[in-house]
Amino acid sequence: MVGTPDVAEHAFKSGFSFRDGRFWRSSLGSHRRRSYPGKPVFVERKTDMLKKLKQTTLASLKGSGAFNLVHNSRWRRQRLLILAYHGISLDDEHDWNPAQYLSKEVFRDRLNLIARSGCTVLPLAEGVRRLYDGDLPERSIVLTFDDGTYDFYLRAYPLLKEFDYPATLYLTTFYSQYNRPVFDVACSYLLWKGRERTLDLKSLVGQEISLDLNSEQARTTAFEQIKQFSSEQKLSAPEKDELLAVIAEKLCVDYESLVSRRVLQLINPGEVKSLAADGIDVQLHTHRHRTPSDRELFLKEIADNRTSIIEMTGKSPSHFCYPSGVWSRDFLPWLSEAGIESATTCEIGLATPQSHPLLLPRLVDVSGLSPIEFEGWVTGISTALPRRR
Ligand SMILES: [Zn+2]
Repeated sequence: MVGTPDVAEHAFKSGFSFRDGRFWRSSLGSHRRRSYPGKPVFVERKTDMLKKLKQTTLASLKGSGAFNLVHNSRWRRQRLLILAYHGISLDDEHDWNPAQYLSKEVFRDRLNLIARSGCTVLPLAEGVRRLYDGDLPERSIVLTFDDGTYDFYLRAYPLLKEFDYPATLYLTTFYSQYNRPVFDVACSYLLWKGRERTLDLKSLVGQEISLDLNSEQARTTAFEQIKQFSSEQKLSAPEKDELLAVIAEKLCVDYESLVSRRVLQLINPGEVKSLAADGIDVQLHTHRHRTPSDRELFLKEIADNRTSIIEMTGKSPSHFCYPSGVWSRDFLPWLSEAGIESATTCEIGLATPQSHPLLLPRLVDVSGLSPIEFEGWVTGISTALPRRR
């Protein structure tokens, strides 16, 4: 963290020291990030302690005025915070998967905080261009949404309109065209919905296993067995959809109700078209949500995705987001070959002019991020605090 001596001095006076590009509470200066070999429960306790320490540190920094100092600094003006969202719950998805879903109330709070903080929310292409031109306005933010689930259309989009914020939707197109629940996530969600029940896998996948779905481990095992079965049997999309219906029936979950409410489904081509016509920036996320390590297959994923998006929006996309955040340096020349101008990861951080344009970091906003932690990222101060890998 170069170029913030005034902030460092301010923090020091407030009981913090600034070393190695990070803030440390003076009396706890030895709490550096390190790996903790041992039992998982110990690691968990350390993680909880780190979170508490971070929250206390952030509250003290905010109280001391350091939030404002960093937020309004030249240092922050040279950086772009790209926020990443997956879903805003239609129902209870944030209870099932808090790492990917936010409740609509929490999402509204996030937008309120961005507005209160006087941030400039930029369209992605403009944000990236101005980052490298050294021309970013104060407190710059870009909003991105991955996948293109229907909840974006129903929950996030009206709120974005209300706040008048631009946004980019990284759309994966296979399940937009085949408009049924996305198999992997819907399978995981059904197992969670049926967590009061026991699932006999024999009748489903032929394995002599019966699992009490109350435990997360059992749900993971069931999910892996079902996924392995569908892959070995090379099930088609309609066959996978039938399998989901059978699983739901066994677990007494109303599958048709989920389907009719479009839970864990993507927006259809007509909805994509209307969103794009209303200013939502639709960009690339591969056709089948995967990044093959073979060059030709990788390029085909981009080409199929691009063709679909052009058909739906009439515009040619040139910005990319790595599905599931999986990236490799091998992909970079292929992305350049495909004419990709920027690519975003799920590596946490603010983008700087030194960031590789095909490896731009983002903050994936999750339910577990407290308001003060989120504010710490909006100001930029959290880049200087220790965090979990
Ligand atoms: Zn994705």
